Amino acid sequence: MSMLFRVGIDDTDSKEGMCTTYVGAVIADKLKEIGVQLVGFPKLIRLNPGWPYKTRGNCAIALTTRTQKHKIPYVKKIVLDTVERLAELHVETTNPGVVFYQGEKTPAKLKLFSKKVVQDVVTIEEAEALAWEIGAETHKFKLGRGIIGALAAIGNTLERDWTCELIAYRTPENRGTPRKVDAASVVEMSAETFPNTFDNLDPFTGEIRITPHTPCPILYGIRGESAEAVLRAHKLVKALEPIERFIVYKTNQGTDEHLRRAKIAEVKPYWSVIVKGKVCGAPKVIPGGHVIFRMRDETGEIDCAAYEPTHQFRNIARKLVVGDEIVAHGGVKKRPGLPLTINLEKLAVLKLVPVTRKINPTCPRCGKGMKSEGRGKGYSCKRCKIKAPVDAARIVRVKREVKPGAFEVPPRARRHLARPLIRVAYPRRKY
Ligand SMILES: [Zn+2]
Repeated sequence: MSMLFRVGIDDTDSKEGMCTTYVGAVIADKLKEIGVQLVGFPKLIRLNPGWPYKTRGNCAIALTTRTQKHKIPYVKKIVLDTVERLAELHVETTNPGVVFYQGEKTPAKLKLFSKKVVQDVVTIEEAEALAWEIGAETHKFKLGRGIIGALAAIGNTLERDWTCELIAYRTPENRGTPRKVDAASVVEMSAETFPNTFDNLDPFTGEIRITPHTPCPILYGIRGESAEAVLRAHKLVKALEPIERFIVYKTNQGTDEHLRRAKIAEVKPYWSVIVKGKVCGAPKVIPGGHVIFRMRDETGEIDCAAYEPTHQFRNIARKLVVGDEIVAHGGVKKRPGLPLTINLEKLAVLKLVPVTRKINPTCPRCGKGMKSEGRGKGYSCKRCKIKAPVDAARIVRVKREVKPGAFEVPPRARRHLARPLIRVAYPRRKY
């Protein structure tokens, strides 16, 4: 009798190397070798980007297999042996976890847990209690913190929205050296497949975005709306070094799954939120060039920060004035001694208040601008000794330098989970 057998893995990588997606790719290939078929695409699930203990990419993976019962012990052995062999176990902060779950349906409680792991903070005790309750088997390496993400990856059904990423890996001898990919072929690929693939190039600098800069085994990752789109793009990219293997993941990247709508009074550190309100404190440029302003809704006030390496996004924030209606999207940060701050990922400008400027009347005799006599006292020309009443001043409307619309940080500053505006402008196309 065949049955669904699911595998979740998390926290195998470190800042120095490895990548949980690679562990997943190796396991997927080994399972195929022993005749175990995968059901659907493997999943790559990004977890709460505000998580205090996050690993580099903060991603977990899950595979679903349909297999005969007698093969399950072989599947388990392949998974555990591969994690043991590839995980960065010598790094203190790397604490892998593996979860096995046998069952046709995803329990409702597990789905809720998965959402919480993407949007909030979960303890290892919560993960263990849930695993026990639903009959999932957990394997902890060292502290085993990875069982949280492993369980969450199994339980994330990607029902609301999803994207795909095709990841190509380098051969061991090339890892750690500069990546060799023909840049012109990436530009061509992007022109052919955009917007069904996205984030291939930085829109402002033209920099290639598909190759990472970390010492991990990834040669490149192509993000897109479907497996067909990323596979087509993969064929168009010219790698100038051998590709050991590649895999297509279905993922919550680029979906905004981490964001929750909230009133300011409800906002908590480690959340990522969507908050609607009005600017109540004018933007200030702080040392480092970051822009901070304050917003409020009917429940409270919060700071918003545009920490952005390029000028485009923070210049939008800088041009806001008190009274402008906005929607802020971003991760909430608590800094010692300072109020909570939303680190902006996206900003929707809904309504701009009119900005006016008063122009003093001109002297009817000499034609020069008259001086104010003080608040509510009218104007005078000292030279000609002529006076003018308060209402002689003209009020003119100043042109606003920002327009209503949606704005985002460029790809290099964007969270893996943040939905790029291009995905909003071009909803998923059917093939
Ligand atoms: Zn005059």
